[in-house]
Amino acid sequence: MAIVPINMQKGTVNDPESEIIVGIDLGTTNSLIAYVKDGKPEVIKTPGTGAALVPSVLYFAPDGRILVGDEAKKYLLEDPKNTIFSVKRLMGKSFGDIRQFKDFFGYQIIDDDTESLVKIRVKDKFYTPVELSALILKALKQHAEQVLNRPVTKAVITVPAYFNDNQRQATRDAGKLAGLDVLRIVNEPTAASLVYGLGDPDAPARKVAVYDLGGGTFDISILEIGGGIYEVLSTHGDTFLGGDDFDRAIIRHWAETGAVDATHLNQDKAYGQAVRLAAETAKKQLSDTQDFSTTLQGKHLSITRDQFEALIRPLIRRTIDLCGLALKDAKLNPEDIEAIVLVGGSTRVPAVKQAVTTFFKKADKSSGNKALKDYIHPDETVALGAAIQADILAGNNKNALLLDITPLSLGIETIGGLMDVIVPRNTKIPIKVGREYTTSVDGQTKLKVAVYQGERQLVKDNRKLGEFILSGIPPMPAGIPKIEIGFIIDADGVLNVRAREKRSGIEQTVRIRSQYGLPPEQIAQMLKESVRHAKEDMAVKALLEARNEAKHVIQSTDKFIAQHRDIIPDEALAEIQRLKENLQDAVRGDDKDLINARLQALNDFAAPFAHLAMDKVVREAMKGKKAK
Ligand code: ADP
Ligand code: MG
Repeated sequence: MAIVPINMQKGTVNDPESEIIVGIDLGTTNSLIAYVKDGKPEVIKTPGTGAALVPSVLYFAPDGRILVGDEAKKYLLEDPKNTIFSVKRLMGKSFGDIRQFKDFFGYQIIDDDTESLVKIRVKDKFYTPVELSALILKALKQHAEQVLNRPVTKAVITVPAYFNDNQRQATRDAGKLAGLDVLRIVNEPTAASLVYGLGDPDAPARKVAVYDLGGGTFDISILEIGGGIYEVLSTHGDTFLGGDDFDRAIIRHWAETGAVDATHLNQDKAYGQAVRLAAETAKKQLSDTQDFSTTLQGKHLSITRDQFEALIRPLIRRTIDLCGLALKDAKLNPEDIEAIVLVGGSTRVPAVKQAVTTFFKKADKSSGNKALKDYIHPDETVALGAAIQADILAGNNKNALLLDITPLSLGIETIGGLMDVIVPRNTKIPIKVGREYTTSVDGQTKLKVAVYQGERQLVKDNRKLGEFILSGIPPMPAGIPKIEIGFIIDADGVLNVRAREKRSGIEQTVRIRSQYGLPPEQIAQMLKESVRHAKEDMAVKALLEARNEAKHVIQSTDKFIAQHRDIIPDEALAEIQRLKENLQDAVRGDDKDLINARLQALNDFAAPFAHLAMDKVVREAMKGKKAK
């Protein structure tokens, strides 16, 4: 008898034939497809070859066929113009973005427009990176359908943690084009952590670092895992750092030592690719041996592990620096990390492993613990995690929950151009927070809500995400309306901002999609800037606040005089006017201490009259009552 699984959350019966959701790691270098079989994630092997990894390479054959994977990789040498690799590096990018790397590609990238999205030219046709990625996804989908013997239409696809919104959207589009309903885009390090975290849902919460060094990207994520919950505490990374850079370092070394001809390398693309492949072969071999040598077009090429390690030391150093930044954001020390997950083919390089174990003290195997998680093939981990996430979405895994974080603070502009942070950097999402504001002018019926992202005190130094106007506020005296600004960030990182006047109930909501619309370099840059300008920012903020306060007091003083002229003697009125003008003069200047001193003087002098006025109001109120 067949077992019919019932989804307890949705109260529906899962049809086992249709409810399969696959997990896909659409990698720069290699792509994989996986699914959960009998509760365990499994990579689907390529029919025929049995390989788990499908090189993310496409070959446009002269007869019109398009080959994908290992079949295509062979042509990197023979026919570089028609062989596409590393297409993930081009996702959501303009030519201007990739100009400095263009020599790395053997095929033709269109450079007539540096601003809009890149296109690739193959023969007489133009392709977008989305279309090319869709071809890879379609091949993976076909493999899965062949092996599972059923249609595959739903998928979870992973992306580097710092992929911006354009890149995430491009990935979704590629899935759609390949005939896949993309249920979720998941960060690669999060997916990887799922694989190792699943083992013991009853274990106490532990801090985990996921170090992912692939062919094209580096990601470090600090997570807290426990009780079936995977919480990302912080992330850092570099979208232009990976094993490809190791290959380039070797090529440069050979060019500098004259082993390969530098001009020949630039002019002859086939030769360039041959050297590139030789460099990668050398690198991989050096993970197991101490030296490498081969001959290419009659020339001897060699390199030792020591030489290789010296070449890549600065690159490894950079990944370790980023680990330090991620720890700092999570307010942790290296000793606090109890498990270190190694992901990506490049973590097979012994020097990389060594650097990671040295940095995260507990990863050191000689100390006898099992903190270093490197026992699953590092290039399969992400796909397996994607499959687990897919299984969760299919409703098969009830106690799993995924949380994420905001990479930069989010807030709105307040008086004087100040940034008022509503969601601080590294806040867990999904989240819903609100703060109340009011109007600054009597009878104000409109309020502009401008949303910014960044760490600086003034909005002009941050990144504007969008703005809208809440209109139709019923006219009321300044300070009376209660306007709640709510920030709602869903599990996919999409931000909705809602403004609501509570007394009248009028409201307005905007959807802001570019929550993650920044590459890691720019996020890092924005953070650096905020530290560098911290002092001057604080000074400007203090001045603006003093000015705002002074303007507010001047306004209420005028209002007070108009209302209570009868209780203020003439000499006192003259003195109040004089103090007020003094304050007005100070507001026009830049001396915050002077503003505050004159503010104090005015307040001190006017305070007794405020008390008198209060008494008067109370007396009149009492009289009014008696009369009734
Ligand atoms: P991506 O996630 O970018 O698709 P992978 O995780 O598949 O990448 O890793 C690919 C990278 O790993 C390539 O740069 C490849 O050369 C490198 N790599 C694979 N095996 C080894 C090895 N044994 N030693 C060193 N590097 C390796
Ligand atoms: Mg990868």
